[in-house]
Formats: sequence, C-alpha cells, structure tokens
Amino acid sequence: MVAWTDITGIRQKIAESSAEEVTASYLEKIDNSCVNGFVTTWDKALETAKSIDKEGQDGPLAGVPIAIKDNISTNGLSTTCSSKILQGYVPPYDAHVIEKLRAAGAVILGKTNMDEFAMGTSTESSYYGATLNPWDTDRVPGGSSGGSAAVVAAGEVPVSLGSDTGGSVRCPAAFCGVVGLKPTYGCISRFGLISYANSLEQIGPLATSVADIATLMDVVAGYDARDSTSINRENSYSDSIKDDVDGLKIGVPEEYFGEGIDEGVEKTVWDAIAKYEDMGASWQKVSMPHTKYALAAYYIIAMSEASSNLARFDGTRYGFRADGDNWHVMASKTRAEGFGDEVKRRILLGTYALSAGYHDKYYLKALKVRTLVKQDFDKALSEVDVLMGPTMPTPAFKIGEKIDDPLSLYLADVNTVPINLAGVPSISVPCGFADKMPVGLQIIGKHFDENTILRAAYSFEQNTDHHTKRPGEVA
Ligand code: GLN
Repeated sequence: MVAWTDITGIRQKIAESSAEEVTASYLEKIDNSCVNGFVTTWDKALETAKSIDKEGQDGPLAGVPIAIKDNISTNGLSTTCSSKILQGYVPPYDAHVIEKLRAAGAVILGKTNMDEFAMGTSTESSYYGATLNPWDTDRVPGGSSGGSAAVVAAGEVPVSLGSDTGGSVRCPAAFCGVVGLKPTYGCISRFGLISYANSLEQIGPLATSVADIATLMDVVAGYDARDSTSINRENSYSDSIKDDVDGLKIGVPEEYFGEGIDEGVEKTVWDAIAKYEDMGASWQKVSMPHTKYALAAYYIIAMSEASSNLARFDGTRYGFRADGDNWHVMASKTRAEGFGDEVKRRILLGTYALSAGYHDKYYLKALKVRTLVKQDFDKALSEVDVLMGPTMPTPAFKIGEKIDDPLSLYLADVNTVPINLAGVPSISVPCGFADKMPVGLQIIGKHFDENTILRAAYSFEQNTDHHTKRPGEVA
C-alpha cells in the first residue's frame, strides 16, 4: 500500500520494488476513486515509470508520481482548464515546471479537476462535474485547485501542483487537510500556466508534509527567461526547514478573525498559535487596516485581467469550435457555448471595469487599494517575522450550498486574496478539526522568505499530529 506515503517513503518503496509497481498501485487507487479529482490520467505514466526503472534515473523525484492542475500545459497531454472551450486541446509544449519535473524524474499521473479557468473556491464550476472532499463527500474540496488537493488527501497521489491567484492552493489545502504553498510572486516561472490573472498568480505545490513541499520547491522554483517576472535566486528550500522556532516573532492580524468566522475554526487556530508559544515563539496582535478593501480590489483586478486573458479563446486556435457561416458567428457561438456561467460573468464584469469612463473609477482605484494592502504587509512584517491566521473562515461547506450565490463564494476568499495582492508567500498547514473537518493555519512571510514560513510550518508538524490524520480517522 503506497497511499499517503511521502516522497522519502516512495523512494524507499521504489528501491525495494520498482517505479512501475508504485505507479501501478496509484493508478489502481485512482481507478477506484470516489472524489472525481482527475479529469485525465496519462496513458504513458506506466511506460515512463518502466523507463525510469530501466535507465536508473537519479533525479530527486525519480519515479515519484505527481498530479498536475489542468491549467498547466503538458506536452502531449490534454490541458482543458476544466472548460468546454478547451476540450480536445493538447499543448505542443511543456510548462517550465513540467520540464523541471520531468528532468527530476517525476511521473505525471494525470491532470486534476479545477474550477473552470481557476475561477472559484469550490471546484463546482468545472465542466467535468464537482470534485468531492474525501473527508465528507457531501462537501466541496475547496478551489480552484480542488482536484489537486482532494487526490493528495485521498491518497491517490503523494504530491501535486496547483495554482493560486487568490487562494486556490491554500483554500483546498485547508479544506482537505493537506499542506499547500503559494510562493512569492516571481519564485516560479508561469511559462505554460494558462493565465487567469497574471499579476496575482503563482504555481504552488500540495503535499501531506512540509518536507515534500520543500522538495518540490527545490525542483520547480527558479528563473526562466520565458517569464520575465521570474527571478534568479539560489536557495535550498529543503535545507531551510530544519531549525526550530525559538524566538520567532508572530503577528496575528485581528482582521483575519472578522465577521463570519466559524467559532470552531477560530478556536483551532488560536490553539495552534498557543502551541507556537509552547515551542518558544512569541506572538502579538497586528493591524492590517486595509484588509476590508482587499476582496473588492482583488475581484476587480482579477476579473479585468481575465477579460483580457480569455480573449484568445475564440475557436480559431484552441480546443472547441462551434459552427458558423463566418468568423464572427463562429467566434461568438464558440464563446457562448464554450464558457460556463461564472467565466462569462467575470469576462463581462472585467470588461465593464476596464471600459472608458469606468477604468479610473474601478480598475485604477483597485490598483491604488492594492498598494495600500501591500503597505499593510510591509509594515506588519517589519515588526514580526511571520503572520498567522485562519486560511479559510469556515470548514469546507456543502456542495451546492453557495454555488447560486457568487457573492457568498467570493466572501470565502477574505483571508487569502490580500496575500496575492501583496505578492508575499503563504502556506496553509493542517492545524486541527472543526465540525469534523480539517482546518488550515495560514502562515504568511516576507517577500522571498519562504524559508521562514516553511521552517515555522515544519516545526509545527514535528510537534503535532494533525497532518497525519486521514479521511475517516476523525470521530
Ligand atoms: N477564489 C478566487 C477566485 O475565484 C481565487 C481563485 C484562484 O486562486 N485561482 O478568483
């Protein structure tokens, strides 16, 4: 049984048996899945594992299975963003992170389900149907990388990649009881990531342990000439995690415990902060006064960028094409039939926010708010080493509960979007349970100081057992 084995354990199993056997056993688990986390499995996974056995690959992930969110381009393997409009699209090239993973010997098992074009918090807007939360299949796994989190939590793959524009790695990590990192903007090349809102998003890893997150970061982070926002920075994430948190200064933003927070989540997170005190850290309250404007600014900026990024999907080059007598009819029918409701809503609102007369009123104003939010982080993080709070204000909600009320779904992102506006790194780690569902502790750091948040997260893991609990084990 390989389910829930970490990378070190998998490598041991491969040494004892073979990469082929390990891959086969995960594929069998995926065949019997009850979470609908994959939209595609890769028919060359076993073949790849076999060739790793034969050639004796010695990369850091040799033979390690991984799942990839379906908005990250994979050469020869369909990439749909869980949208009808990209049905049948097979990229002719790999994203930068995929090149890195393949070079490290990872075996891609398949592509994971997501909210259409990463627009959502529940993975319910997928064209391929909702992904279910392995802890309670009546509940959402979070989103938009819900598939990537659910398959790790269900033991169908040890690690995965997601993307986080406003919380899409951290939210599903929190709801599914796994670890998820949103790196600093610029840490990982976005080349080959199909853009939703490119000034906000980063690719990020999900796993059952902080050590695995660090191993993945060692493989995928770094400069790439094809993404001019990526930066060159020598760092060993794995080496950075080991120190303890003695003397660590934690800031707790009051605003992250605001209106609508679930009592169980609040208590669980405060217990975690108390645990840090026992471990030698100290905490103080900090104020992030512009947090209340972050959600509105985020949605204006994200939708504006989306309205422009999604203009390329018109039936001419990629995926689905509707019939039409001329280009105009074909393109408008393709977009009308190819995009789901949430995507259309955002394209319309984003186009509106950018249009003459409203550009200054909405878009420019949102950019100004973004600066103020960033200044809140600069100030708070000049006084403390990290910030902590709940990743999500509630545990995973029921499937269907919020889907007809977009505003209530947007509100769930209240604690995750400020981080993307500021571009700082943030990790969600399992810190206990509320209503028998996992709760995520969010640890936020300074720009490019992943090492401190990884160390804080790792220390917590060493001193608690929340991350070792599996679906079905919490009474
Ligand atoms: N829920 C947020 C949104 O819908 C974040 C999504 C994401 O991070 N991709 O925009």
